[in-house]
Amino acid sequence: MNLIAQNIAELKAELPAQVKLVAVSKTKPLSAIEEAYASGQRIFGENKVQELVTKYEGLPKDIEWHMIGHLQSNKVKYIAPFVSLIHGVDSLSLLKEIDKQGKKCNRKVPVLLQFHIAEEETKFGFSMDEVVSLFSTDLIQNFNHVQISGVMGMATFTENNSQIKKEFDQLKKYFDQLKSTYFLKDEAFKEISMGMSGDYKLAIEAGSTMVRIGSTIFGSR
Ligand SMILES: *Cc1c(COP(=O)(O)O)cnc(C)c1O
Repeated sequence: MNLIAQNIAELKAELPAQVKLVAVSKTKPLSAIEEAYASGQRIFGENKVQELVTKYEGLPKDIEWHMIGHLQSNKVKYIAPFVSLIHGVDSLSLLKEIDKQGKKCNRKVPVLLQFHIAEEETKFGFSMDEVVSLFSTDLIQNFNHVQISGVMGMATFTENNSQIKKEFDQLKKYFDQLKSTYFLKDEAFKEISMGMSGDYKLAIEAGSTMVRIGSTIFGSR
């Protein structure tokens, strides 16, 4: 078995069955993704639109491509036809644009609402207040081409595990609150995307349903 396949097998053995593995392949060549694909991996995450499109075009069509990075509205059109999940939706204007582009290609684009849970100011995301006011308007009901499938967040980059745990617990609370208030009957609203190479074990303990793992699979970037 090659190293990438081995890393994936080890991770899969560790992840609870309900937790999906997004293999984060950003900056890695097609050949690395092909190795992962050959071992059975089908979900890949990228953080740049151009790179995502190039890889989509060059690789098998049964791959599920996830956009995990910050997304600019003017680039939504390039990925709307094929993207399986957009993790980092952090503004009303971005939601509007995804709805518009989803309509053009006649599909409902699955997205996650990104929350700002970390201490660092540089990380993107909504606050709970912003999301509550978003849902208090009926604007959101008019988005027929966006499927809000859950939440996403990134913890502070720190060695302090109790800090990380606190932030993941917070995201889980946001999810539960949104689920019970707005999505009780919506089965599609079910994902909590949290956890990367350095903190996925803590994320799973806190209720993650989807981990985004790059360097543990493909090596450092
Ligand atoms: C790069 C990246 C990851 C993966 O990070 P690793 O530490 O390599 O596992 C996860 N999520 C996002 C949003 C990323 O940009």
